[in-house]
Amino acid sequence: MIRNLMLRRIINDVQVRELKRMLNDAQNIVITCHVSPDGDAVGSSLCLLHLLHRMGKEAHVVTPDMIPSSLTFLPGLKDVVVFTRQELMAKHFMENADLIVCLDFNALYRVDRLSTLLKEAKAKKVLIDHHLDPEDFADLTISYPKMSSTCELLFRLIYATGLMKFMSKWSATCLYTGMMTDTGNFTYNSNDPDLYLMIAELLRFGIDKDNIYNMAMNTFSVDRLRLMGYALSEKMELFPEVGGALIELTHEELVKFHYQRGDTESLVNRPLAIPGIYWSIFLRDDVEYIKVSARSTGDFAVNGYCEQYFSGGGHKNAAGGEFRGSMEDARSLVYDIVANLKENKK
Ligand code: 5GP
Ligand code: MN
Repeated sequence: MIRNLMLRRIINDVQVRELKRMLNDAQNIVITCHVSPDGDAVGSSLCLLHLLHRMGKEAHVVTPDMIPSSLTFLPGLKDVVVFTRQELMAKHFMENADLIVCLDFNALYRVDRLSTLLKEAKAKKVLIDHHLDPEDFADLTISYPKMSSTCELLFRLIYATGLMKFMSKWSATCLYTGMMTDTGNFTYNSNDPDLYLMIAELLRFGIDKDNIYNMAMNTFSVDRLRLMGYALSEKMELFPEVGGALIELTHEELVKFHYQRGDTESLVNRPLAIPGIYWSIFLRDDVEYIKVSARSTGDFAVNGYCEQYFSGGGHKNAAGGEFRGSMEDARSLVYDIVANLKENKK
């Protein structure tokens, strides 16, 4: 049964019709998302996968690289084709698709080594995303940077296209996961009442939201928990006059705690719990580059700093980048930011 959910009408009707037509016309669909996929990227991808299967379509999810272990509970995860592991199969699906749906990224370079395949694929392309300033590479670009997650946007699109009848407990579980992870379990970007109408509807599909939270956000290995404790007690530097915090982890430290991908997820948010701290930067030495993560609260925007200093980008309150240089150089850039903020306060 399709219920009237009384959601605000935000999505452009022309785009809704076009998306519906493209999905109906396609038979062989590939869904892809950004490198180092997070809950929103994987959640939106697998939700759409289940939905398309129920529509009778041939569909596959192809990710640029591995999915973090915290998301292995997601239904359909084992069917994901990981480019770095199954290059030939990924290539086969991309080359033979008649439609490629790009989820949760705004620029070709965000799919890393998949970008050539994506660019050269003969398939029609649709981009569905909530990052600022999307590149113009798709035939249809559905970009709503005000949305809290791509999963929220996908929910609205599924509703608006009349495809809710193809939703299931599986797709609802995936959609909820992305809505939850991109808002820190509804603790930021989460004041839109519509979100809770959507969650109510997802619960009607039988999802276990408490279990999803525990699996995706509250499961820590001993090493991960100790690494978090170590980072906060030994490696957090505060700049109280300018509301900032910096955490660095070297490669040696990561090795010591048997670092696995995903282990530092959400670490960058922790300093924001301190009253008066409203921006936080985390630098992690991934050997190839220093991974930069930045978070803020309120009006203080971190994406500009990530663009300017770390050739990255992102949202106002959650941004990042990859810095090619030493930890010392990355740290001194953060000190420059601090110095500039102090200067501006005078
Ligand atoms: P995270 O800190 O979780 O890796 O990234 C937070 C957000 O920052 C992402 O959703 C993305 O919008 C942005 N971001 C992270 N890394 C990069 C990067 O290397 N380049 C750009 N342009 N944005 C990034
Ligand atoms: Mn997202």
